[in-house]
Amino acid sequence: MDQKALFNISYGVFVLGAKTEEKVNACITNTFVQVASDPLRVTIACLNRNYTCDMIKKSGTFSISVLDQSCTFDTIKHFGFQSGRDVNKFDTVAYDTDAYGNPYVKKEACSLFSCKVLSSQDLGTHTLFIAEIEDARVVSDKPPLTYSDYQTKVKPKREAAATDKKIVGWRCKICGYEYKEPVLPPDYVCPLCGHPASDFEPIYAD
Ligand code: FE
Repeated sequence: MDQKALFNISYGVFVLGAKTEEKVNACITNTFVQVASDPLRVTIACLNRNYTCDMIKKSGTFSISVLDQSCTFDTIKHFGFQSGRDVNKFDTVAYDTDAYGNPYVKKEACSLFSCKVLSSQDLGTHTLFIAEIEDARVVSDKPPLTYSDYQTKVKPKREAAATDKKIVGWRCKICGYEYKEPVLPPDYVCPLCGHPASDFEPIYAD
């Protein structure tokens, strides 16, 4: 099987918001999809190790902010490269909420959805939630960001590898997580996206 075939599947990029009694939180996802039209149904597949996933299992609702092409790498980093278990991501980001209290980002988004979970299935790394849309809004006329746009236009370009430079860490090519030790264990698994050591690239000393 050619794993690279998977890279040609198109996705959007979204802020997935959740709320429990303790916290509002959100992460970055590329897995929000409309899967039926009558009745209208959507799915979201959320990494089981993500705090947001635990929150959705508890609350049974979630929000989606569809990121637009003004989205910056800082927004992706803020919501995608740190865990809501460690920080309150909305301490420093302006947000609105849906009727359930799930957070929407106030900038860099073109559409917003409030969703209620109907059923779920554990798929191993991820849980797939099937949901209905309770509210939907268009909030800007900017085109949506695709996952391919993210990879080619938003994510910083890696500098040409310089073999005479010292390796100080390793960066996950999938999500950007940085492992800050010079030697990456061969069985290492990215704590954010679950990809293996083979998906990491070296970070060189300046
Ligand atoms: Fe990763």
